[in-house]
Amino acid sequence: MAYQYGDLNLLDPIKGYLHFVIQTELRLGIASGSLNAEVSIGLQTPEAREWTGRLVRCAPNALHCAIVEPSEIPALFRPCLERGREKLSVTAGSDQVCRHTFYDPEFGLPVVGRHAQHEGRTGWWTYDTYAPLGLRPGDSFGSFIIDDEGSFWVRTGEGLLSLLPQRRALGYDIGYSGGEPHALAAYLSQVAATDGEVTAAGVPYERAHPAILAWTQSSAADRERRELTLRDLKMMRCA
Ligand SMILES: [Zn+2]
Repeated sequence: MAYQYGDLNLLDPIKGYLHFVIQTELRLGIASGSLNAEVSIGLQTPEAREWTGRLVRCAPNALHCAIVEPSEIPALFRPCLERGREKLSVTAGSDQVCRHTFYDPEFGLPVVGRHAQHEGRTGWWTYDTYAPLGLRPGDSFGSFIIDDEGSFWVRTGEGLLSLLPQRRALGYDIGYSGGEPHALAAYLSQVAATDGEVTAAGVPYERAHPAILAWTQSSAADRERRELTLRDLKMMRCA
C-alpha cells in the first residue's frame, strides 16, 4: 500500500493514541503490522529501563498476536504468573521462554515481553513492540538519542521518552553507507527542517540532508550513547 502521512487517521483527537493497521494473508497464515515497524528493546540501558518501567500489564489482544509468531500465540495467554506455583516442565539445561503482554500508556503501543525461565529462575527480558508512526498531537521533538545498545529514541520537549517514530520497511541504522542510515537521516532532516513540528515516519530517502546523512553513515554515530538536540540537528543542516 502506498501510504502517505495523512491518508489514514491514526490518531484519536481525544486520546492521542496511535491506531494500527494489520495486514493479513490468510493463505500464508500471516498476520502482522502493516505500517508500524517492529522493534525489540532489551533492559540494559537507562532509556530502555525508563520505557519498560512505565509499561502496564494487560490481557493479550489482536495486536500482541500480530507481534509474535503464530505458534507463540497460545503462550501469550499463559504467562508464568497465570500458572502460579505450578511447576514448569523444564528439562535440565534447557530454557523455556515465557511471554507477558503489556501496553505503553503514553502511546498505546502493544508490547510483548519475553523472558527465559531457566530451571524456575527468571532470565533476561526482551520487549517486542511497534514503533509509533509519529509523536502525538501537541508533542514537540526535543532530542534524538541512540542508546548504548543501538536503540533509537526521542525525548519530547516535555521530557517524555518515546521510541523514535519509524515506518515498516524503512528501518534505521548507523555507521555504514546503506538504506537504513539513509532512512534515519531523512527522518532527522525532516524534523530539523520543520523545527521539530513534523514527526511523521516514512520520509523518502531523497529528503536526507547531506550533512545529516554524512553523520548517520559515519563511525561517529556508531555504538555509543549519543544525544542530539533539535538545535544540534538544525545546526548540522546549516554547517
Ligand atoms: Zn513469565
